Amino acid sequence: MGTRSTLTVAGSEKARLTPATAETKRMMQALEAELSIYRSDSAVSRLNSVAGVRPLEVPEHTRRLLELSKAYGDLTSGAFDITVGPVVDLWRPVKGRTPSLPSDEALKEALARVGFRQIQITGGSAFLPAKGMRVDLGGIGKGYAVDFAWERSRSQGTSNFMFDLGGNIRVSGEAQPGVAWAIAIRDPFNKASTLAKIEMPDEWALATSGQYERFVEIEGRRYGHIIDPRTGYPAVGLAGVTVLAPNATMADALSTGLFVLGPKAGIPILKKTRAEAVFIPDKQPTELWVTPGIEAKLSLLQDVKVKVIPGW
Ligand code: ADP
Ligand code: MG
Repeated sequence: MGTRSTLTVAGSEKARLTPATAETKRMMQALEAELSIYRSDSAVSRLNSVAGVRPLEVPEHTRRLLELSKAYGDLTSGAFDITVGPVVDLWRPVKGRTPSLPSDEALKEALARVGFRQIQITGGSAFLPAKGMRVDLGGIGKGYAVDFAWERSRSQGTSNFMFDLGGNIRVSGEAQPGVAWAIAIRDPFNKASTLAKIEMPDEWALATSGQYERFVEIEGRRYGHIIDPRTGYPAVGLAGVTVLAPNATMADALSTGLFVLGPKAGIPILKKTRAEAVFIPDKQPTELWVTPGIEAKLSLLQDVKVKVIPGW
């Protein structure tokens, strides 16, 4: 999945660490083999390769993720869209070439192949009805993998642990007796420092989407890797958004979707799901715009302004 994963187990259960790590590693490898678009033999790549041609029988995780992705697409009014791949490609830096803005024609052509509502799922098979259409689970797959590993660890008897897959984190139990797991939010404007930490409710998950790690610079402007499917342009306005949710799949999908929508349009979604969020607008001085429910769990590590999302 192109990232690092870390399993942390509370000291009281350190005997569980080695077997749980081995099991988690096996699970991550199995999921990656099924979902990765960087492997031509994965189920997702095979589904993409027959887009516009025929339906394909897909394995369980793939089918489930397609269904969840469609649901998060609906929930975010299309801001989260797993078929945005053709547009993502136009913004991807190419080795040895000076990055330039995609042409209107190229964007229009790519956008015509985008639309998660077209994905058809019947029984055990899936169908992408248009040629050149493609599924990219980069905005939700890591969260799903975290939930999968989290559930397996719990069912195998580990109770107090934290699993982190590239910033998609889910906790179980406590770090120490009486001490909740806590996670720091990085400063999007200064990679080396942290802005605040969040005390995690038991069993909850956290994910961050931002444009400080993966972006392309064109004519002196930075363009991030999260695309607004309504325009074909990278989403702007935020430096980052962190979402706290009851599971990691929701945290991952919503962090990507809310990065596109921004705080104001995110309010009804946050109210409906009862997820919590910290938005960091892309401006100086740094401010944190938060859901009211997260304030009690948040401790600042820097002197920045915190306010409830305007319009909440
Ligand atoms: P990361 O994977 O960098 O931690 P995200 O979870 O926010 O961050 O996912 C970003 C990835 O999701 C992109 O690299 C791309 O593959 C995909 N993506 C980009 N824009 C969207 C979008 N609007 N909806 C769904 N997926 C997207
Ligand atoms: Mg995401």
